[in-house]
Parts: sequence; structure tokens; C-alpha cells
Amino acid sequence: MDFRDTAAEAAFRAELRDWLTEHHPEDTPTGGRGDPESLRAWSKELYEAGYIGITWPKEYGGRGLPYTYQAIYLEETARRGARGHLGTIGLNMAGPTIIAWGSPEQQRRLLPPLLSCDEIWCQGFSEPGAGSDLGSVRTTAVAEGDHWVVNGQKVWSSFAHLADWCILVVRTDPDAAKHAGLSFLLVDMHSPGVEVRPLTQITGDPEFNEIFFTDVHVPIDSMLGKPGDGWRVAMTTLLHERGTLGFLLVAALERQIDLLVRLSRQTMPDGRRPADDPIVRDAIAREWTLLQALRFTNYRSLTTLVKTGIPGPEGSVNKLVWSEAHQRVTALALEMEGLAGQLDGGGSVWDGYWQYHRLRSRGNTIEAGTSEVLRNIIAERVVGLPRSR
Ligand SMILES: Cc1cc2nc3c(=O)[nH]c(=O)nc-3n(C[C@H](O)[C@H](O)[C@H](O)COP(=O)(O)OP(=O)(O)OC[C@H]3O[C@@H](n4cnc5c(N)ncnc54)[C@H](O)[C@@H]3O)c2cc1C
Repeated sequence: MDFRDTAAEAAFRAELRDWLTEHHPEDTPTGGRGDPESLRAWSKELYEAGYIGITWPKEYGGRGLPYTYQAIYLEETARRGARGHLGTIGLNMAGPTIIAWGSPEQQRRLLPPLLSCDEIWCQGFSEPGAGSDLGSVRTTAVAEGDHWVVNGQKVWSSFAHLADWCILVVRTDPDAAKHAGLSFLLVDMHSPGVEVRPLTQITGDPEFNEIFFTDVHVPIDSMLGKPGDGWRVAMTTLLHERGTLGFLLVAALERQIDLLVRLSRQTMPDGRRPADDPIVRDAIAREWTLLQALRFTNYRSLTTLVKTGIPGPEGSVNKLVWSEAHQRVTALALEMEGLAGQLDGGGSVWDGYWQYHRLRSRGNTIEAGTSEVLRNIIAERVVGLPRSR
């Protein structure tokens, strides 16, 4: 694959850069994710400018462009330090799964407000007894007349406190073997019997939640696939989660390493300039070099995606390497700040930017598959080693 922009891609990149200069001129890193309403407004601005659903087929409201355009979008917005999209679970996981498995009615009803950020989605996969081992899901759905009755509990569900819809993995056949008894529902989060309890993370933000379902009635036609297809549908979601997020992750790491270089050139409150220290220069160079390797691994994933339309298992490599690199980079930034690294909020360097990311990065090696689980996937499905179980 030739990685250089074609003339049309270069024009798209230039147009996007101009748009970002006008709409996202500031480039000042500050702590925190930003309040949801300002994120929603930003997400809508992106949508109205045509930068959401770039690769989605035109019949579903997208622009029908190749994945290389999405990669350009992610590179340019990350380089500019633009904030993320509020509907990230909808865009990257629920949407592609509904496109792959949904009925035309489900697609017509659900995809337009997902793209425009009028409806937010969350992912209800994990449970207290089912995280890495999704096959152990115990939340049940029982068919009664024209609806499913859902009972159970989910946990760690990001954005559930803001969500209108949930992609929910449930057990519909308690007698079938583990994975065979699962099904995949699209659940209206405003239904009676849905209770969301935010969990405060180490960052202080309540970004993820517990969700309790008590006799929740879900219309019988709200399933993706048939009863018992839940595992296969969920795999579509997870491949997209790890695969299409690859570019976002590489671009985000590039941005963090750029900022690390910027920080190293700055004079710290104790009068030191970290870049004067050869050990710091060496550590930054090591992370930068690894980023280049990750970038090309990511291009390899992009090649699979462009050829097949489906992310390959090598997306797990990007997620694994990125998450561990991000933890090292944020730790290095705080070391560079010296004693000032212990301050957060007022008086801290860059308004607590690195403090926030250091704490948030702890979850990077857990969310979307833990590092141990990803190493198993890489060993078995990318390298072709014998199965562990
Ligand atoms: C910030 C964040 C956001 C999240 N958002 C969501 C969300 O929106 N929706 C959602 O459904 N979930 C979400 N999760 C949950 C996440 O998917 C789970 O935490 C993850 O899958 C691990 O499951 P667990 O926490 O139950 O740990 P467990 O699966 O119990 O794992 C415990 C430990 O055992 C190890 N382990 C488990 N199985 C194996 C194995 N086969 N081989 C080797 N080691 C193993 C793990 O690596 C880990 O170290 C989120 C998590 C975080 C941190």
C-alpha cells in the first residue's frame, strides 16, 4: 500500500485543516475531558461540517469515503488537540454493528440521530462476574408476548449516565452452552426499570456506571440477529472497538509525545528544563521510535480494513502497545515536572493536564480488553500459536 495522500486525500486534509483553524483554533492543553454539553455542541459542529460518518455508506447518512479519509480525520484532529466526540460508542461500536446486523427499520430509526449526536449510546457488556469472559453474562431476557423482559446488572458502562440507548448482551437461553445462549438487544435507556448509578473514577470524573435492569420491557423486534446470535454480533462490535479505534489511538499518542517534547523544552517551576537532561531525551526518543513502529502496524491494519471492510485481529496489537505506551508517557511527563508533578488543579503545570491523563491512563490497559487478554488474542489469532484454553 502507498501511504502518501492521493490528490483527493490531500485536498480533504487541507480542507479539514482550514476548518479546524477556524473552529478549533486554541491549542492549549488543560486537564479533564470537558463538560458533556460543550462536547455535544462540538460533536454537532463536526456532524454539520460533514466530518462524522465519513466511511459510513451514503444510504446510512455517511459520506461513503474509504477508510483512509477517516484515518486523515483522526490524524488531523488529534494533532490539533481537538476534543473527542461525545457519541464515540455509538459511532465506533453500536453504529457499525447496526449497519452489519440491523434490519432496514432499525437502521432507518437509529442511525441518523446517532450520527447527529441527538442520541447517545452506551455499551452494556461487562457485568460484576463477566468482564474478559463475556460468555459468563448473567443478565437475562425472557420473551413474553411482544416484548423481552430484561433483568440483571451491568457495570463499567461508559457514558450510560448520558445515554439514550444501550447495546446490551443478555442471556436468552439458560440451558444452552455458555456463548450459544447469548443474544444482543438494543435497549431504550429511558425505559421504566432502567437505573443508572455513576461510578467515580480515579480521575474524579463519573465517566462510567452501573446499570440495573428490573423487569425492563424491550420490544421483541429490538434484537440484532436471532436469539443465540449474541456472541457473533458482540464480536462484530469488539472488532470495530479495537480495530477502527487504532487510528485514533496512534494519533492520540502522537499528540501526547508532541506535547511531551513541548513540556521538556519548558522551564519547570523549580528552574530545570527537562530537555537538558540526557536521560529525559533518551526516554522521549525511545517513545517516539516506538510510535513510528506502531504507526506502520496501524497502516497494516488499515490495509486489511480497506481490502475487506472488516478490522482484523491485528487491531489488538495497536490497542495493547498504545495503552502501555500511554501509561509510560504520562508517567514520564510527571517525572519531568519534578515536585510540581504532585500538584493538581490550581498552580499545577498546564492546569493539571498530565495529572489527569496519568490517572486516566490506568484504565487504558483494562478497557476494550485487558493487556493479558489481548496478548492471548495476538498469540492465537495473529501469530497462530496453540490455543490457551
Ligand atoms: C475506563 C473503562 C471503561 C469501560 N467501559 C466499558 C463499557 O462502556 N462497557 C462495558 O461493557 N465495559 C466497559 N469496561 C469494562 C472492561 O471491558 C472490563 O473491565 C474488562 O473487559 C476486564 O473485565 P473485568 O474488569 O471484569 O476483569 P476480569 O475479566 O475479571 O480480569 C481480572 C484480571 O484477570 C486477567 N484475566 C482475565 N482473563 C484472563 C485470561 N484468559 N488470561 C490471562 N489473564 C486473564 C485480566 O487481564 C485482569 O488482569 C470499561 C473498563 C474501563 C477500565
